[in-house]
Amino acid sequence: MRILVTGGAGFIGSQVADDLLASGHEVMVLDDLSTGRRENLPESARFAEVDLRDGLAVRRTLEEFRPHLVSHQAAQTSVAVSTRDPLRDAAINVIGSLNLLEACVAVGSERVIFASTGGAIYGEVPDGQIAGIDTPPAPVSPYACSKFAVENYLHAYRSEHGLQFTILRYANVYGPRQDPHGEAGVVAIFIQRLLAKQPIRINARKRQGDEGCVRDYVFVEDVVRANRLAAEGGVEMPILNVCSSVATTTLELAGTLESVLGCRAEISYAARREGDVERSVLAQNPDSPLGQPTPLRKGLTQTVRWFESR
Ligand code: NAD
Repeated sequence: MRILVTGGAGFIGSQVADDLLASGHEVMVLDDLSTGRRENLPESARFAEVDLRDGLAVRRTLEEFRPHLVSHQAAQTSVAVSTRDPLRDAAINVIGSLNLLEACVAVGSERVIFASTGGAIYGEVPDGQIAGIDTPPAPVSPYACSKFAVENYLHAYRSEHGLQFTILRYANVYGPRQDPHGEAGVVAIFIQRLLAKQPIRINARKRQGDEGCVRDYVFVEDVVRANRLAAEGGVEMPILNVCSSVATTTLELAGTLESVLGCRAEISYAARREGDVERSVLAQNPDSPLGQPTPLRKGLTQTVRWFESR
């Protein structure tokens, strides 16, 4: 298949692109390198340095490559940026995605895989509960609103133009190539600080000094596998949660990392961060084809080894 991977220079998209190439597909990456890195680009993929907001350039790229499938991983990915600048978030995540969908229709692409967010789309998940795909979305950040908007547009484009889709709602993804300099990606940030023997900070869930927010951490290899299955027709449902279903506080995460690295960290406690959902834990679809998720300790060990090897 000819597959266009948007965001293929980023943390997740580059590993999705690598994996699709290894499975024998022809891959083109579309990315503006705003947060992605040239060094992440797979050597055997074609590359178009294009901003999704430039509808004409997006259209030309698809006309040139004529993908059967578009794996849409590119996005403005920061909840904090979306809160500070919702117009920028919507320009990239909503209008940019619409530019892509219009181009898909124009060149006759058959299907889109969309990287959505299980971590943000369900809003607060109360203690004792896990959010399945039957849980109604309750976005609280502009980022979650823009992702949910695109999900809705996908339904509209399917009924209007017959463009098929698979929505993958990722939980909190961690693994090799995650950027430790961003505002999100606590695993990468903690590993880099622990390796540099610097203190780490736990942002409060409710009150300063508590264990921090509760998250569902999913290893990037599980996300990559979900993408390949979806690309190759192994996912029959239109929406799939990609998650571990394990609830982990920030302090527990820090403890597991200390144990993997065999070190003790100096920990400081900060106030609650604006816009952070307190608790997000997802349920796999009842008939999920994804199999067992990678245990946190195993995924963290592989991630630590990758950071150490750099
Ligand atoms: P990332 O920042 O590493 O990757 C995003 C890529 O998109 C980058 O390569 C960036 O250069 C590119 N990009 C950004 N704006 C662009 C634009 N206007 N035009 C073209 N390219 C643009 O982030 P990631 O963590 O790899 O996220 C990949 C996808 O997964 C995103 O859609 C994100 O919303 C989604 N997601 C990520 C997580 C997570 O925990 N990392 C969780 C849920 C969903």
